[in-house]
Amino acid sequence: MTVRVRIAPSPTGNLHIGTARTAVFNYLFAHHHGGKFILRIEDTDLERSRPEYTENIMSGLRWLGINWDEGPFYQSQRLHLYREAVQKLLDQGLAYRCYTTSEELDALRESQKAKNEAPRYDNRHRHLTPEQQAAFEAQGRSSVIRFKIDDDREIVWHDLVRGKMSWRGSDLGGDMVIARAASDGVGQPLYNFVVVVDDIDMQISHVIRGEDHIANTAKQILLYEAFNATIPQFAHTPLILNQEGRKLSKRDGVTSISDFQAMGFTPEGLVNYMTLLGWSPIDSTQEIFSLDHAAKDFDFDRVNKAGAKFDWDKLDWLNSQYIHNMPIDKLTDLIIPFWEKAGYQFTRGRDRPWLEQLVSLIAASVTRLVNAVDMTKIFFTDDIELSPEGSQQLQQEGVKAVLEAVFSSLNNQQLTAELAQGIIKQVVKEKNVKKGLVMRSLRVALTGDVHGPDLTQTWLLLNQIGVDKTRLEKTIDIAEIEISAM
Ligand code: GLU
Repeated sequence: MTVRVRIAPSPTGNLHIGTARTAVFNYLFAHHHGGKFILRIEDTDLERSRPEYTENIMSGLRWLGINWDEGPFYQSQRLHLYREAVQKLLDQGLAYRCYTTSEELDALRESQKAKNEAPRYDNRHRHLTPEQQAAFEAQGRSSVIRFKIDDDREIVWHDLVRGKMSWRGSDLGGDMVIARAASDGVGQPLYNFVVVVDDIDMQISHVIRGEDHIANTAKQILLYEAFNATIPQFAHTPLILNQEGRKLSKRDGVTSISDFQAMGFTPEGLVNYMTLLGWSPIDSTQEIFSLDHAAKDFDFDRVNKAGAKFDWDKLDWLNSQYIHNMPIDKLTDLIIPFWEKAGYQFTRGRDRPWLEQLVSLIAASVTRLVNAVDMTKIFFTDDIELSPEGSQQLQQEGVKAVLEAVFSSLNNQQLTAELAQGIIKQVVKEKNVKKGLVMRSLRVALTGDVHGPDLTQTWLLLNQIGVDKTRLEKTIDIAEIEISAM
């Protein structure tokens, strides 16, 4: 059998992490079996669907490296197919027109509520005669199309994640609406119906989607039977949960892939993390792998039934692994847009080689790409802020003299690592002070703080853009006197 799977997002919002994770599992399964992965945009809800969401979904999938083999197919361009399929069920007597008004349905629901019964349609128009239908139409009523659901049916399937599943027809809410009302003919067809028409047409062999679709699966199986079509296999994947064990939602900070992108996650780190959300490789000690690598191992036996808790620390750790092992050239490419967004200007010596050296200086401490913005602020601004510890350091005895000595050793030639270290050594000797005092004071003068990355490299980079002398000069002016800000 050829494996054909699909992801079928509705463009009513940005690419959601849950949808993206479903896409990952579909992709892995397709690739494991040398099958095809199809993208179908479920845009039949014309009011809520937006082209910018379709764009966001597709660019998010591409960014993550989840490329599809066929599509995108748009349901909005396939309405004729659904209409024909509705007509087929009507002709076979498997579906019928229902003229019940919304007021009548409300009343039905109220009476069921009063009797403590679950709300369901009571199939009252299942057996209308042509005369009764004509009478309703003469009253100006429009009709929805309902598909007959046998209350006595037991719907059973073997779910690839959850094992044997069964639903009773009586738990499906009565005959289901498959197309909305329209004053003429057949109105807009609905999700559970179009999904089956499409999955049959696209010869989908496995339907892999979130477990929130389990009740839909029961309904959809009845539709496959009605169309006399092969029923695909189903795999319902666990939901992504927050720390409290509830479904991850907007309240948890971020939910869309573009949000994760803006927060500085790399596509490789994020997709690696999503792969582990509910699945584990055969060698469970192995946590860092590409999609292609995971695809070799992927099967549903290793997908958990229980919900997958979203763990930010783990995601950060994985992301940092990708960042730390990335060539500087590539990392620079990824960081530049974050600098640009922060308004940093690449002027006065801040050319590509300089930027790459700056990236090497901080790379080991970056967890999310966006961290690079704060970490390099002192390299892009003229006015640096003095931290409380920095300010304290400047009040130490001897600091002023030390900084003056450093300043006067700096001529206009470009600084090298040897020259910088020579100057420090020289000042230690000349002023008879500890090396630590020189280093700390110099760091404060150059960066405003007592902590930071390698001092020599920091100094060289500041020297290359011509700001080290000015910073030293400014600091000398305020050293050893009452200071509030530089
Ligand atoms: N449009 C549905 C969703 O985004 C598709 C579900 C399915 O895969 O059938 O949840």
